[in-house]
Amino acid sequence: MTINAKSIIEKDKAHVWHHLIQHKPFKENDPIVMVEGKGLRIQDINGKEYTDALSGGVWSVNVGYGEKRIVEAINEQNKKMCYWAGTGGTIPAIELAESIVSKMERMSRVYLCTSGSEANEKAFKMVRQRSALKFDGKKYKILYRDRDYHGTTISTLSAGGQEERRMQYGPYTPGFVQFEHCCCYRCPFGKEYGSCKIECAKALEQCILMEGPDSVGGVIIEPMTAGGGIIIPVKEYLPMVREICDKYDIWLIIDEVVCGLGRTGKWFGYQHTDIVPDIVTTAKGLASSYAPLAATITTEEVFEEFLSDPQEIERYFRDISTYGGCAGAAAAGVANLRVIEDDNLIENSRLMGEYLLEQLKSKLNSHKNVGEIRGLGLFAGVELVEDKETKVPVHENKLAAIAGNCMKNGVIIGRTNRSLPNLNNTITLCPALIATKEDIDKIVQAIVNGVSTILG
Ligand code: PMP
Repeated sequence: MTINAKSIIEKDKAHVWHHLIQHKPFKENDPIVMVEGKGLRIQDINGKEYTDALSGGVWSVNVGYGEKRIVEAINEQNKKMCYWAGTGGTIPAIELAESIVSKMERMSRVYLCTSGSEANEKAFKMVRQRSALKFDGKKYKILYRDRDYHGTTISTLSAGGQEERRMQYGPYTPGFVQFEHCCCYRCPFGKEYGSCKIECAKALEQCILMEGPDSVGGVIIEPMTAGGGIIIPVKEYLPMVREICDKYDIWLIIDEVVCGLGRTGKWFGYQHTDIVPDIVTTAKGLASSYAPLAATITTEEVFEEFLSDPQEIERYFRDISTYGGCAGAAAAGVANLRVIEDDNLIENSRLMGEYLLEQLKSKLNSHKNVGEIRGLGLFAGVELVEDKETKVPVHENKLAAIAGNCMKNGVIIGRTNRSLPNLNNTITLCPALIATKEDIDKIVQAIVNGVSTILG
C-alpha cells in the first residue's frame, strides 16, 4: 500500500492535537509524521531519514527502534492473554517485578502503572497515606527542587520546578514546597565546588526546618536532572540528601523516569552513589516505549507500612491503575530488560557516553557561546551562553534554530524545557543505548555545524 503523505498530513492538521506545541505555525509548516524506525534511524512520511539523538523525542526508546525481541514478546503474551487487573497476578508482571528488583540493592516491591506522572502520583499517595496512618495526617508535605520535572498531572506539576510548564494550571495541590537546585554552573548560592560545603544539600535541611520536620513526609528529586538542563550533582550531594531525610524520618523518592534503565551508564542514576532510596519511580526506558509501562518501586520497609492484621484499621494502599494490568506491556518490560542485559547496553551507555562527552568537549569547548558541557552515560547537555563570563543564556530562539539546522541535516537533538528565568538554553542528547561511535560522530558533527551556522 502506498502512503499518500499529503492527505495524511492534512488529516493530522485537521484532527490531531499535538503535545507541548503551538499549532498556529502548522498553517504554513507541516507537522512531522514519523513512519518507520530501525536502531537509531527514523524515517518521516516524506521518506527523509534522521539519526535520532533523543530516543523517540522524550528520552524513552532506550534500546532503539525495531527491536524484534520486544515486539515478539508483546505479541506472544497478547495471543495467550492480554490482561488481568493488578489486583491479581500475571506471569509477565511477576517476572518483571523480580527482574527489576534484582538490579536494585534493597528494593523489593514493584507497583506497575502506565506513565512517569502516574508512578510519581503513587509515590505521593504512599507518603500521604503513611502520614494519615501514622502521623495523624500531619506529615503530609512533599519537597521538590527548582528545575526538576515530575509529570504533567496537577499534583506532579505542583511538585514541578519548571515554572513555565505549570504557571497557567493553578491552583496547585497544597503541601508541595520547593527548595534550591544543585547546579554548580549556576550555583544558587554563588559558591564554588571545593569551598561550598555542598550548600545545596544543606538547603534541603533549611527547608525542612522552615516547614517543620513533623510536617514533611517526602522529598522527590531527579538523580540527574533531565529536561531542566542535564544537571549532574557532585558526588557528595545524594548521600547528604539521604542523611538529611533519615534524620527527620522522611521518605526519599528518586525519580528515575529518565535516568533509569541504563541511561547514565548504570541501571539507575542513583546507583552512581551507594544510597538506598525509599521509593524509586521509573517509566520511559522500562519498556523502551514499545508499550506504556511505569513502576513505583519500594523497599520492604515502605511496603510494610501498608500491612495490617484483621483487627486493625485496614491500611492497604487504596490505589489501582487499570492499565497497570496490561500483560503485554509487562512482557515488553521483561523482554526490554533482557535485551539491555544480553546486549551489554549499560556498559555501552557508559563507554559511548564517555566518547560522546569527549567529542563534544574537544569540538565545542572553545566556542565563544559554549558555557558548559555536562553528561553521564548517553545523557549529555551543551549549555549555550551569550558570553562565557556573564553566562547570560542564549535566547531560546537561537537554540530552536540550531535544532532546526540539525534536523535539516538529518539529526534530531533536544533542548531544555523553559524555566524562569529563561534557562531554555541547553542542547540535550540521549541517543539509544545501542549507539556506536559512528552514530555519535554524526550527532556531534551536526551540532558543531548547527552551532557555527547559527551563532558564528
Ligand atoms: N519525571 C521525569 C524526570 C520526566 O522527565 C518525565 C517526562 N518527561 C516524567 C516524570 C513524566 O513522565 P510521563 O510523561 O510518562 O508522565
